Amino acid sequence: MSKQKRIALVTGASRGLGKNMAINLAKKGINVVFTYQSKKEDAMETAKEIEKYGCQAAFLQLDVQDINSFELFFGNLRTCLKDNFQTDKIDYLVNNAGIGAYATFAETTEDQFDSMFNIHIKGAYFLSQSAIKTMNDHGSIVNISSGLTRFCTQGYAAYAAAKGAVEVLTKYQASELGSRGIRVNVVAPGPIETDFGGGVVRDNKDLNQVISSQTALGRVGLPDDIGSVVAFLCTDESKWINAQRIEVSGGYYL
Ligand code: NAP
Repeated sequence: MSKQKRIALVTGASRGLGKNMAINLAKKGINVVFTYQSKKEDAMETAKEIEKYGCQAAFLQLDVQDINSFELFFGNLRTCLKDNFQTDKIDYLVNNAGIGAYATFAETTEDQFDSMFNIHIKGAYFLSQSAIKTMNDHGSIVNISSGLTRFCTQGYAAYAAAKGAVEVLTKYQASELGSRGIRVNVVAPGPIETDFGGGVVRDNKDLNQVISSQTALGRVGLPDDIGSVVAFLCTDESKWINAQRIEVSGGYYL
């Protein structure tokens, strides 16, 4: 009898980094349940890519800001796991979904602040809290932060502060979940070419060049630079890596 493949839940995998993480997980032989917020057609494309690697894919709608919807979401997840994967548990969680907000510290509105903290920390906090009830022991959680917690690019105070909280949460999660053999790490990407921030890193040629010149490896990041690291952190190859912040930026702003 063939061994049951492990299952990862990845938030925000309709596009960008999450999509690439999902594909890299499939390359490692891991089935993927992922979420989209608004772009269902893009989610269908992600699913097709996953299936190319001989893994199963399923996707569910989720707004990580909407904590009140989590009970319904996990009900839908359990049904999805039973119907598609003949199990009631996941093995890995990747808290990736997120957006940026550009405003200086002096000009940040309360709405912008709340949106950053609700999406990046409150959402990830309570989603993980529910997810661990549906997670096998000896699994792994990967949180996604940002290089902006180490260096400052003006205009990202609220975003970076929320990501800083994600990094602290990672250590507490690792400390408290270690008894179940669940490892928790945080990946902090540098600037990557995705739709993030209106796609500015990818589409603004001048900015792209400036970032490249400030990066030791001489270019900006691409989604595959991140997805492969996240997938690695969800395998036994990284079995002794725990509670770590891993910056994946090609050596930005050294
Ligand atoms: P992206 O290309 O804009 O994709 C964002 C993804 O998150 C999409 O799948 C989107 O779903 C989903 N999403 C957005 N808001 C959501 C919400 N409220 N609830 C649930 N899902 C939501 O961005 P990305 O570059 O892949 O960013 C992914 C993560 O990496 C974020 O946490 C970001 O902070 C972090 N990051 C990015 C960079 C970078 O330079 N790109 C650098 C450092 C860290 P829909 O498409 O369905 O709407």
